Amino acid sequence: MVKMKNIVRSLFFTRDASDDELRRLIDSEHFDPLFERANEVRHLHFGDDVYLRGLIEFSNYCKNDCFYCGLRASNRSAVRYRLTHDEILQCCDEGYRLGFRTFVLQSGEDPSFKDEDICQIVHSIKTKYPDCAVTLSIGEKSYNSYLAYFQAGADRYLLRHETASDEHYRSLHPQNMDPVHRKECLRNLKKIGYQVGSGFMVGTPGQTLDNLVQDLRFLQELEPHMIGIGPFIPHGETPFAHEAQGSLQRTLNLVAILRLMFPQALIPATTALGTIDPRGRELGLQAGANVVMPNLSPVRVRKLYTPYENKICTGEEAAQCRRCLERRLESVGLHSVVSRGDYPGVRR
Ligand code: SF4
Repeated sequence: MVKMKNIVRSLFFTRDASDDELRRLIDSEHFDPLFERANEVRHLHFGDDVYLRGLIEFSNYCKNDCFYCGLRASNRSAVRYRLTHDEILQCCDEGYRLGFRTFVLQSGEDPSFKDEDICQIVHSIKTKYPDCAVTLSIGEKSYNSYLAYFQAGADRYLLRHETASDEHYRSLHPQNMDPVHRKECLRNLKKIGYQVGSGFMVGTPGQTLDNLVQDLRFLQELEPHMIGIGPFIPHGETPFAHEAQGSLQRTLNLVAILRLMFPQALIPATTALGTIDPRGRELGLQAGANVVMPNLSPVRVRKLYTPYENKICTGEEAAQCRRCLERRLESVGLHSVVSRGDYPGVRR
């Protein structure tokens, strides 16, 4: 049987491994050589730099009903909000002052924001802050909608595929949500010219090791610029309220594997990692992540954007968040940079 160390070595040199080897790595206990190699690769491409993305959660309305998400339409106990165009711009003003050069506009799939509204918001931000990148994370749309946002100035788009297995996807979503369409959206985004982010959850109910290998294979085919993964965390007002949360170790293993398979990818140390472990984000960075996404949303709405429960960082002002993250980065020998942080060699 091939030794674990050889699998890591081969992944480092070839960026690939067999399905069986990937299953073993994903399922391993903490294995130092995996994390050392992942760190080495991150350092090779990005030095000690970590990119900051200012996250603006501008609406928690959603027309969808994903079984794992607290923002699902059926959650009648959710207190809903929408930020206005001006409020979103104020978040950007504050973010720019604090050194952010990427703004991530995230929401549920909220039909009350028409394409014209999104285009106007993007256009206003790009006009006021032409040196900043705008990332959208607002779900599945038509090709023409994606094109319109891109033409309005949006640079990047985040849409996690969630799981590459059609069967597993159907067990996490209602019938009207289609895994084929989701993947089609990602291909359309790439075709249009966005820097594209995808990703998946680790530890969703019923997920197998094979499903996770399928996720890695799908990413190899898509070649996204950004890859976000996080542990599944149950929310009390969903059908998965009593399911177990995803494993920290398995999520970290996957961050490290992703760094080795996609050396130049922008990989966030996600808030979900920080939610299941007080040092989760630091551990994510030590596993090869190179992006953090502090929250720029107004404090009054932070607690209301809860796809999962006990989400951290819902009480601090943006400046406090920024300082707190800076300290966390320093504690693992890294530092944030004031830059757009594009995928190497890609910028329009
Ligand atoms: S995961 Fe996204 S699309 Fe699904 S219910 Fe939550 S916010 Fe809506």
